[in-house]
Amino acid sequence: MNPDLIPLLQTAVEQAFNAVVITDARLHDGGPYITYCNPAFCRMTGYAAIDLLGHSPRLLQGPQTDPLVLQRLRECLHKEQFFQGSTVNYRKDGSSYLVEWNISPVRDAQGRLQAYVSVQHDITARVRAEQHQALLARALNATQDSVVIADQRGQILFVNQAFEALTGYCSDEVQGCTPTFLQSDEHPPAFYARLRETLARGESCQATVANRRKDGSIFHAAQTITPLKDEAGITQHYVSVAKDVTRLVKHTQELRELADHDALTGLLNRHAGERQLQRCQRAAKMECQGYALILADIDNFKSINDRFGHEEGDNVLKRCAALLGRTVRSGDALVRWGGEEFLIVLPNCQLQAARELAERVRRAMGSEQDAVVGTVTLSLGVAAWQPGESRRTLLQRTDQALYHAKAKGRNQVVVAA
Ligand code: GH3
Ligand code: MG
Ligand code: MG
Repeated sequence: MNPDLIPLLQTAVEQAFNAVVITDARLHDGGPYITYCNPAFCRMTGYAAIDLLGHSPRLLQGPQTDPLVLQRLRECLHKEQFFQGSTVNYRKDGSSYLVEWNISPVRDAQGRLQAYVSVQHDITARVRAEQHQALLARALNATQDSVVIADQRGQILFVNQAFEALTGYCSDEVQGCTPTFLQSDEHPPAFYARLRETLARGESCQATVANRRKDGSIFHAAQTITPLKDEAGITQHYVSVAKDVTRLVKHTQELRELADHDALTGLLNRHAGERQLQRCQRAAKMECQGYALILADIDNFKSINDRFGHEEGDNVLKRCAALLGRTVRSGDALVRWGGEEFLIVLPNCQLQAARELAERVRRAMGSEQDAVVGTVTLSLGVAAWQPGESRRTLLQRTDQALYHAKAKGRNQVVVAA
């Protein structure tokens, strides 16, 4: 070695970040003994150099120092081999720290063992951080809620076990994907756009989302997505926590079904019919998509009740509802509008088509022969939405047409003026 380098090497070791300690090569008589330690070693151990020089590094060991690691260390020293390991050591004040260190044998030009040099570092903080991280991952996995962590671009970095159980996807297959693969077609694109816009503003968003599992089935999740920001306020990650609310949503849907339907005939009740009308009226106003109404009323129903009893009257109502169900188009809404009065809401339908449908219904009803009550007929009023017209006015015109059908002798279709 260039002798000019020796002072530089000395300075380098003195100023090194890592702790460096050199011992002699005496493995007997309580040795080896420390012959040199740098300031970083003193800082790590809390000892002054004077406390250490001439002492064995055993000075640093204590109750939690791993005997197996020490045994391996001794074997390496005896075989004059390189050693690397980690264990608990103790500072001068008795406090413990985790040390990772290696020891290299140092030989002279003839290959005779002269010393051992050891480079050490305190890994307490790193190991604590790893333990902390492992604890957080265990906690996330233990929670019943699905957790997804994605990066700035929305690509998945982490999913917990509840996510895997809920969606049927395993962690490996979703890493790096954006969560769009969960999307169902139960929401319009605007729904997802709104969520994206809220997140882009750095705000968290909450929504009950219908998602698709790996097997294609739908689940409902009450989801909160929160942007995680750095010190500069820039979103670096997103964390999504979702609770499975499928049973709750299904139950609510069942209740709504019950609330929207008439118990006797199974048709929509008047309240749900009103909503259907509002929907058609909105589409008519916004997209100029016309709709039509048919109001059908059973003729002389009171006398059916009077002659055959209320129960037979109910059967007639059920039969009439079933006949309407068989006759109208699939997108049409059938509403029990009153006692023996049925409203048919025909979205996207012109007057002529509505009139033809009303006539088909009238004929079908009139040609059915019931074993008990015989033939039952219907009177029907028909009207189609006119630009600028409110749904109330349209209903009034339909009702007027029905009134005329009754006045003209019943069992007929009248189209509103
Ligand atoms: P029109 O030809 O003019 O329509 O005469 P109508 O007898 O059918 O009409 P009206 O309004 O006089 O009588 C309707 C009857 O329908 C009176 C009511 O008791 C009966 N009704 C209403 N709801 C029900 C029901 O749920 N079941 C039964 N069985 N009867 C009902
Ligand atoms: Mg009637
Ligand atoms: Mg009536």
